[in-house]
Amino acid sequence: MQYNVAQLLQAQTGTIRRHEIDKPAEEVQALLDGDGVSARGPVHGTVRLIRTIDGVLVTGTLETAIGLTCDRCLDPVEAKVTLDLQESFRPTIDIDSGAALPPVKGEELATLIDEQHILDLSEVVRQLILLETPMHPVCRSDCRGLCPRCGQNLNEGQCDCETETVDPRWAKLQSLLDDTTEVESVS
Ligand SMILES: [Zn+2]
Ligand SMILES: [Zn+2]
Repeated sequence: MQYNVAQLLQAQTGTIRRHEIDKPAEEVQALLDGDGVSARGPVHGTVRLIRTIDGVLVTGTLETAIGLTCDRCLDPVEAKVTLDLQESFRPTIDIDSGAALPPVKGEELATLIDEQHILDLSEVVRQLILLETPMHPVCRSDCRGLCPRCGQNLNEGQCDCETETVDPRWAKLQSLLDDTTEVESVS
């Protein structure tokens, strides 16, 4: 996901370059190492690099799949994620003079075009994947979870533990907990 944008930077404002992205899952995994998220599919889609007055605007929609754990029953869950890319990149070197451009306060390193005019989408894509990762993935909306006493997976059958009546004060909280993100199941 690295592009040499030297030519694009020399082009007129409004010039567009399209690039297909098809980054294999293993390489996506390398990006996500240490984030507690596993890649389950390639990152693919099309991006448009648009020459703007002060840099390059990258737009596009990418799709990928990540592996998570069901919040209730701990079974593996695969979630498809869509990444909406819209990020301005700025050069660190003036393309015509070769002079270093002054840094802009508060600017992220991830959106800088380096001295070799390489625009690298990796960090932006990594951040988007983490942003789109569901906080409370469930394997299915009616997942019954694990018995809090014996740990039995209640999707596979009822255990022998006594069922407790739910305190009405907790019922409201429970309904909030039930409002978790639904993701596509592996099976
Ligand atoms: Zn589940
Ligand atoms: Zn039980």
